[in-house]
Amino acid sequence: MNNPLKVIAKKMRFDMMKAIRPGQSHHIGCSYSIVEILTFLYFKLLKIDPKNPSNHDRDIFILSKGHAGLALYTILFEKGFINKDTLLSYDQDGGILPEHASNVIPGVEVSTGSLGHGLPIAVGFATSFLNDDKHNNVYVLMSDGELNEGSNWEAIMYAGFHKLHNLTVVIDGNGFQGYSDTEKVIDLSPISRKIENFGWNYYDADGHDFDSLDKVFQKIKKNKNKKPHFIFAKTTKGKGLPGLEGKFEAHYKSLDEETKQKLLNFLKI
Ligand SMILES: [Mg+2]
Repeated sequence: MNNPLKVIAKKMRFDMMKAIRPGQSHHIGCSYSIVEILTFLYFKLLKIDPKNPSNHDRDIFILSKGHAGLALYTILFEKGFINKDTLLSYDQDGGILPEHASNVIPGVEVSTGSLGHGLPIAVGFATSFLNDDKHNNVYVLMSDGELNEGSNWEAIMYAGFHKLHNLTVVIDGNGFQGYSDTEKVIDLSPISRKIENFGWNYYDADGHDFDSLDKVFQKIKKNKNKKPHFIFAKTTKGKGLPGLEGKFEAHYKSLDEETKQKLLNFLKI
């Protein structure tokens, strides 16, 4: 495990499991599918400072799939925005971390949970930065099922037309949404043609492979065509969890104490 990002991702999977409360439905599957994407963004890409979370020169990251708040809080812990006690208060009475992402937490830009809102808000940030000649970049992580929301397509249409080249969308392509396979609910293939026809750059990536993510972001850095960027990152629901990996039921799965302990032993660093 030479890549330091792999070490962080491994630690993150363990810390997330520590914060999970047995008997509760924490959207485990869709939190574990974005571990590498968040690790790459927070430790390789985003211009952010845990000591100064509201620095005006910072990049903006929005987790539009706010139900994976557990993953967002954990990467903020790994990066030093919040402490361990705060992380372990996740979804507890008296704690400050609600299940869905909340912007009262340092480092969380926008409260999310109602799907289809993150990208329209990101379009507002990106437009404002370009209007002010500022160099901040804006990143949004969305679920694949979330692409069914009409508000996203208004935002995609607007961003393409207005050439918001400081905006990047990453899709967590785990193939499932709350009630079924994404392709059984609405099959959006070929998504690349739809996105390109709206005036965006489109890229495929392996959402669990740091080299693959790095290659795509290098391409984006070199791309000067002034279009917004859309990355479809193929992922696996419940990645890294025996018994849950790649399974639909990982979405809402509630763990009992014994299973949690077994998984903690498995994930132990
Ligand atoms: Mg999904």
